[in-house]
Amino acid sequence: MSASNFAKWHGIERSEIPWGPTIDEDKCVGCGLCVVTCSEKRNVFGFDEKEKKAVVVNPDNCMVGCNNCQVACLWNAISFPSVAGVKDAVRKLMDEGQIKKELELKLGAGYQAITKS
Ligand code: SF4
Ligand code: SF4
Repeated sequence: MSASNFAKWHGIERSEIPWGPTIDEDKCVGCGLCVVTCSEKRNVFGFDEKEKKAVVVNPDNCMVGCNNCQVACLWNAISFPSVAGVKDAVRKLMDEGQIKKELELKLGAGYQAITKS
């Protein structure tokens, strides 16, 4: 899957959503756990062989709301923006019609039954 597959998040330009990991280089011990924790398809992290540290190379490929790498980092070197701030930003950009379309696709007849009752 190419990076462009993550260009939109439920119809919103992913680059407009302020969500992604930041690595504190002073805390990073270069264990690589974050690199192997994140999905290969997303390819958010790279590894600087010279400095022996993880680096963020594709922040916009980070799945909105995920913080698995932060939880996995035993040295607390990874941080994320505030969830409340991201929700505020997304609320302004959200197109509810897009979500209804996605629900319909996902639930099919089930969705139609819900909306008729
Ligand atoms: S898991 Fe933490 S300490 Fe290990 S490479 Fe990633 S950021 Fe650095
Ligand atoms: S939060 Fe999830 S998707 Fe984002 S970089 Fe970390 S592991 Fe990958």
